[in-house]
Amino acid sequence: MGKVYLVGGGPGDPELLTIKAYRILKEADVVLYDALVSREVLKFTRPDCLRIYVGKRDGKHSLPQEEINHLLLKFSKVYEKVVRLKGGDPFVFGRGGEELLFLREKGVEVEVVPGVTSAVAAPSSAFIPVTQRGMASSFAVVTGHPNRDVDWSAFSKVDTLVILMGVKNRQRIARELIRAGRDPEEPVAFIEKATTPDQREVFTTLGELAQSPPEVSTPAVMVVGKVVDLGREVLSHGQHRESLQEAHQA
Ligand code: SAH
Repeated sequence: MGKVYLVGGGPGDPELLTIKAYRILKEADVVLYDALVSREVLKFTRPDCLRIYVGKRDGKHSLPQEEINHLLLKFSKVYEKVVRLKGGDPFVFGRGGEELLFLREKGVEVEVVPGVTSAVAAPSSAFIPVTQRGMASSFAVVTGHPNRDVDWSAFSKVDTLVILMGVKNRQRIARELIRAGRDPEEPVAFIEKATTPDQREVFTTLGELAQSPPEVSTPAVMVVGKVVDLGREVLSHGQHRESLQEAHQA
């Protein structure tokens, strides 16, 4: 019986993979990965490693979670090292917990390898500190997925709000947050394709977002709070893109 590794693949830049994830990927017999995993990271696998894509295809749905669970179980009976590779951290909106419970119930040994989550890496890479002395002493991460019922009033007093999967729903989220008591003047940032050479930032305010939302492409992390202005300030002096580009060319 093999072992299943639930591995965080980091936010995009392959250099943000942990050394542990890198080692396990190099040794893997089979890797099941989804859309947000960078192709660069997959290159670390052995040439004979079986690589299976289980994410969304051309707008179609990803493989149902149940099927992924059963594939993991099946492979664990045949292979020694089965890797379930996810973008960011496997337990941050990654359904890693469901896989863990299923596999444990079936008696399969599981190891979790934490990853750098986009929830923090995206703001960081846009020079937005999620906490800042005297400015933000709390942050929360919440799903903005249109199918999830979120009680937005619970987030009216969190200093920095980080929203994943919120692009489609951005206008409604802004309206809900204003209704819950947040200031319409509050700055908002979207960080698209964070930590990749295509990273782009879109700055706006809650009020503007509620009225006429700017174009944003996916994947993007939405950040609400005073700290957004710090990133905007640094980026307006324009030194960052060269450094990101250099890192990728190196
Ligand atoms: N487990 C992942 C999150 C999965 S939910 C993690 O820890 O990062 C998917 C959401 O993550 C996307 O809708 C988007 O909001 C965010 N995301 C993931 N990678 C991203 C990236 N490189 N740039 C911007 N947003 C990203």
